[in-house]
Amino acid sequence: MMLPEDFTIHIAELKNGTRRIQRDIPLAFLAAELAHCEYEVTPVQAHCDLVMQWMPPENVLLTGKINAVVETPCSTCLTDVELHLCADIDALLAPISEQVINDDAEYTPEDLHREYYENEQIALDDLIRDGIMLELPMTPRCTGPCKRIKGLVTAQEAEEKQQKIDPRLARLAEFKLS
Ligand SMILES: [Zn+2]
Repeated sequence: MMLPEDFTIHIAELKNGTRRIQRDIPLAFLAAELAHCEYEVTPVQAHCDLVMQWMPPENVLLTGKINAVVETPCSTCLTDVELHLCADIDALLAPISEQVINDDAEYTPEDLHREYYENEQIALDDLIRDGIMLELPMTPRCTGPCKRIKGLVTAQEAEEKQQKIDPRLARLAEFKLS
């Protein structure tokens, strides 16, 4: 599923002046994208306020915010939790041809915020999806008792801890059992 046409910005328009996209993000789009998430996430509300500015010779500076409210079950007690997500967007977009040229070069910290546009237009689909996905917590928990119990871990966290045990110590554990 893709975002509607009015979430696509044409470079030709940008050259005539800064564009601001300030509108609700369709929930059906988000629901489809969040279906790939590791836990169940239901979007309730989403809005973006993004400003695109032409930076000669051929870059685009994209800044702004994406806000979303989503619902997800608490990973410990399974009650619904409402998460308020806010992603700060600050990206410099370059034409995709530059990516091909720099492909073998070493990545610098600047590259981490570097995005690319193709065919003289910018579709906000990936940027909006990634912005929201990055704000999702690893382990969502309700603000009730689950947050306050010290040392409480989910099954997944316990498993990860188990895997971190030094193999030499694991042999010791076997020894103790026998
Ligand atoms: Zn809980």
